[in-house]
Amino acid sequence: MALVLVTNDDGFFSKGIQYLAEALKELGEVYIVAPDRDRSAVSHALTMHRPLRVDLIRENCYSVNGTPTDCVVVGVKKLLPREPDLIVSGINKGANLGEDITYSGTVSAAIEGTILGVPSFAISLVGERPFRYETASYYAIKIAKFILEKGLPPDTLLNVNLPNKPLQEIKGIKITKQGKRSYENSIHEIFSPWGEKQYWIGGGVVSWQKMEGTDIQAIMENCASVTPLHIDLTNYQALDYLRKHGIEE
Ligand SMILES: [Mg+2]
Repeated sequence: MALVLVTNDDGFFSKGIQYLAEALKELGEVYIVAPDRDRSAVSHALTMHRPLRVDLIRENCYSVNGTPTDCVVVGVKKLLPREPDLIVSGINKGANLGEDITYSGTVSAAIEGTILGVPSFAISLVGERPFRYETASYYAIKIAKFILEKGLPPDTLLNVNLPNKPLQEIKGIKITKQGKRSYENSIHEIFSPWGEKQYWIGGGVVSWQKMEGTDIQAIMENCASVTPLHIDLTNYQALDYLRKHGIEE
C-alpha cells in the first residue's frame, strides 16, 4: 500500500485538497498536511522565526499555521508513520504556468518533497470558478500511478496543469516545457479610507509568448500539461558566456 502525503497552498479547507485526498485513497493511505489558511503565492518560504502549531483536524488530516513548504517538512519528518512514497500538492484553484511557478506555493511544496527525496508533483486547474475538481482528480490518479510504478528521474518533479473543463473535453496528456507570459496592468492604484495611495498586485490581462510545446499551448489545445521541472537552477549555457567574458580571475 502506498503512503501519500497531500498538501496545497490554498489551505486545508479548500475543496481541491479534499477532492485530491479522496481520489488518491484508491492508491493507498493518504495523509493531509496543509496550511491553516490560504497561503497562495508564498513560493518556497520556510518559517524559521516562530514555532509551528499543528492541529489534528480528523484522522490523518492536519492543519499547520505555516507555509506549504513547512507542511511538507513537518509532514515527512514528524507526522507521517514513515517516509511517504509520493507527495501531491493541489488541486490548486488557478494556473501554475510559465514564470508563475516561481511564486507558487503549490509547486514549491513539490519542490520541497523532491529535495527530501520523495517523488512529488503539483496539480492545478487553469481557469476560474466553478472549478472542475473531478477532472483534475482523474488525472491526479493517472499521474500518481505512473510515478508509483515507474518513478521519476533524480531531482525531478512534475508540474501538472489542467484546463478547467469537463473530463470529456480533455484530449489527453501532453509533455511540455515551461512557457513565458507577461502581465499588463496588474498593479492597481487604490486609496485607503484615509486617502493614502496604495498598490494592489493581481488581475490584469495575461498574454503568452507564442511557443510550441509549452504548458500554456497544451492548455489552449484542451490537453493536460505535464512539465518536468528540476531543482538545479544553473543556466549551463551561461557558464560558457561568463567564462568567455572573463568574469573569473
Ligand atoms: Mg493557490
